[in-house]
Amino acid sequence: MPVTTRPSLVMARGAGSWLWDETGRRYLDFVQGWAVNALGHCPVEVRRALGEQGSRLLSPSPAYHNRPQLDLAEKLCALTGAHHATFCLSGAEANEVAVKLARKWGRLRRSGAWQILTTWGAFHGRTLATMAASGKPTFDALFPPSTPGFRRVAFGDLAAARGAVDDSVAAVMVEPVQGEGGVVVPPPGYLAGLRELCDRENLLLICDEVQTGCGRLGTFLGQSTERVSADVTTLGKGLGAGVPVSAVLANERASCLEPGDQGGTHAGNPLLASVALAVVTALGDPDLLAAVRQRGAEMRETLSSLARRFGGAQPRGRGLLWALVFDRPVAVELSAHALDAGLLVNPAQPNVVRFMPQLRTSPIEVELMAERLATAWARLD
Ligand SMILES: *Cc1c(COP(=O)(O)O)cnc(C)c1O
Repeated sequence: MPVTTRPSLVMARGAGSWLWDETGRRYLDFVQGWAVNALGHCPVEVRRALGEQGSRLLSPSPAYHNRPQLDLAEKLCALTGAHHATFCLSGAEANEVAVKLARKWGRLRRSGAWQILTTWGAFHGRTLATMAASGKPTFDALFPPSTPGFRRVAFGDLAAARGAVDDSVAAVMVEPVQGEGGVVVPPPGYLAGLRELCDRENLLLICDEVQTGCGRLGTFLGQSTERVSADVTTLGKGLGAGVPVSAVLANERASCLEPGDQGGTHAGNPLLASVALAVVTALGDPDLLAAVRQRGAEMRETLSSLARRFGGAQPRGRGLLWALVFDRPVAVELSAHALDAGLLVNPAQPNVVRFMPQLRTSPIEVELMAERLATAWARLD
């Protein structure tokens, strides 16, 4: 089905920061499966876990415990301070679980409150409920009727969030930095302000860290860059480093799901859990996260200097999630020229080009990215 548009080339092979098409042409990949390949293409940790677990046990069914799932839950809770974890296959599915949890919590602990505050420009997934939770104006008209229970406010605006809270609201759901929305970094103190609001009004704070989590912003959770601890956190994308697995983490206050509330045939599958465990173990290395912050500073410097040279653009981002924001809608054209120059970048918005390199990208790759981007930029009309 023609569900999206794609260039005519066919991708065949990947290694580290590089992707090859079927003709053997090589691309420097600053999309990395949409911030999925946290450790680059086909990392040794993932290949080893797939091989070892793949020959031991693929699926005992979700009716039984399996060791990788237990170890992964323990590791994630130890890293984040959460008390409970459950697993799914996609970011959207993890966010659905967070929505279920908020609705149940509202029924039990907040006199039947069931609305969730979300933000304009947010992206929470493509299931019916997560489309309704997202703040993409075009989503509402696609498959009406839209799932009820979501109230949107301006992102980054604390007063708007405060003003939208009433007795029907159970939770606030937010990305620490809006990814698909175009790498929108909120003003300092925004997340802490939401935490305060949730504490004062007895609401759950849900952080959708599907894109910002797993080291992307230079700390294991993006919320830590603002010294905030959410009640519920969802992880996806980088968690499996190329393998589909997602997680929902909850603290003691929020965790209210009981047997029968949630499940899935492949949920907590040991093959996927063993990969995620290997990835999280690799990301637990403080040197790796320090390198993300260092590369992030280099990205800021590099993108700023290109913006000064060509004009009409501003960089924004954190860690290794970056964007160039143009004063004209040139993102699609620039990304196409970049592809011609052997560089993959993502037009996240008509005027925003997004960069999501693997977390182990090197200073040389950042320089090479800048050279190829300059070639593409020089071709813009
Ligand atoms: C990608 C993304 C999702 C959806 O994840 P899928 O795995 O595509 O379902 C949800 N939230 C955020 C913040 C994302 O970036």
